Amino acid sequence: MTRDVINTDAVIIGAGPVGLFAVFELGLLDIKADLIDILDKPGGQCAELYPEKPIYDIPAFPVITGQELTDKLMQQIEPFNPAFHLQQRVDELEPKGEDGFRLKTDIETEFKAKIVIIAAGGGSFTPKRPPLAGIEDLEGKSVFYSVRRIEDFRDKTILIAGGGDSALDWTLALQPVAKRVTIVHRREEFRGAPDSVKKMRALVDDGAMDFVIGQVMELHGGNGRLEGAGIRGKDGGISRLDCDTLLPFFGLTMKLGPVADWGLNLDENRIPVDTEKFETSHARIFAIGDINTYPGKLKLILSGFHEAALMARHAYRYVYPDAKYMFQHTTTSSSLHKKLGVK
Ligand SMILES: Cc1cc2nc3c(=O)[nH]c(=O)nc-3n(C[C@H](O)[C@H](O)[C@H](O)COP(=O)(O)OP(=O)(O)OC[C@H]3O[C@@H](n4cnc5c(N)ncnc54)[C@H](O)[C@@H]3O)c2cc1C
Repeated sequence: MTRDVINTDAVIIGAGPVGLFAVFELGLLDIKADLIDILDKPGGQCAELYPEKPIYDIPAFPVITGQELTDKLMQQIEPFNPAFHLQQRVDELEPKGEDGFRLKTDIETEFKAKIVIIAAGGGSFTPKRPPLAGIEDLEGKSVFYSVRRIEDFRDKTILIAGGGDSALDWTLALQPVAKRVTIVHRREEFRGAPDSVKKMRALVDDGAMDFVIGQVMELHGGNGRLEGAGIRGKDGGISRLDCDTLLPFFGLTMKLGPVADWGLNLDENRIPVDTEKFETSHARIFAIGDINTYPGKLKLILSGFHEAALMARHAYRYVYPDAKYMFQHTTTSSSLHKKLGVK
């Protein structure tokens, strides 16, 4: 099936705090942005690594959690109605001269954009792969690290491994459609939200699913088909559990990933930029937030916000080559008020 190419002014790679604020700064200049992130939600490190931790150095917020900051940024960019393309990783970035760029994600979404803003932080979040022999051959066929469509798991005999929120959330979401769900965790206690733990235990008590204390040690099957898993229980012995699908949820690590393949100059896995435009070694490709480097760089959210403002100003000349950039304050400019929907 061929899909339409999405035409936009700016593709922002990474929907972390800095990518989100870039939507605002670009929006003030009438530059439409599409955001792409491998995660299933916006917020980058703030939402994925420390949603409930307080941050104390966001200007004008004496204290704000990672998730609250994400929610406020989402509210702030609402007037610009950005399109989010989540759960997909930008793999290809191909320059097309004056026409800008062609980008492609791992699920084959294609974009045409006049400018690209790399706000990829520490790189793409990548699931931790459990050290199980033969797992790579089963990935994408019987072993999955995320759920893109619940319907794909209908009538499957699913083994979910892990003790955090992802393992519990997907257990609860998949149990109604699966043939059978078993969650395996090393301990009786879970790290996830108490309410999810309660719901999972109630399903186990009702006989609607199983909970096994143990650790997946081996996978059985072949040719991309999982047939069972060997689980080491409390007594140290390994017993076989029949299943055709494994979902391991052992957290995420950050890896630079495809950014390294796009022909940009790199300095120890960071993208060097100038501090006037935040442009990379390639014209029309900008890098802001944790992913960039320059003399004096501080990996702070507030630095990324500043970088987004200056980047947008310079991106403007590529998107509107014949227009003159005009500096305006949001407090006093009636044209900015209109864009922001201020009554
Ligand atoms: C525990 C902790 C506490 C912190 N406390 C503070 C603090 O108090 N104050 C402060 O200022 N900073 C703090 N930081 C740092 C702060 O979180 C980062 O500076 C900030 O998140 C950087 O934002 P970003 O948008 O540049 O990148 P990120 O938040 O890393 O977001 C980048 C996003 O890009 C996505 N991505 C990357 N590559 C691709 C690709 N190819 N395709 C699709 N998506 C991709 C990633 O999945 C990610 O979601 C803290 C960090 C941690 C871990």
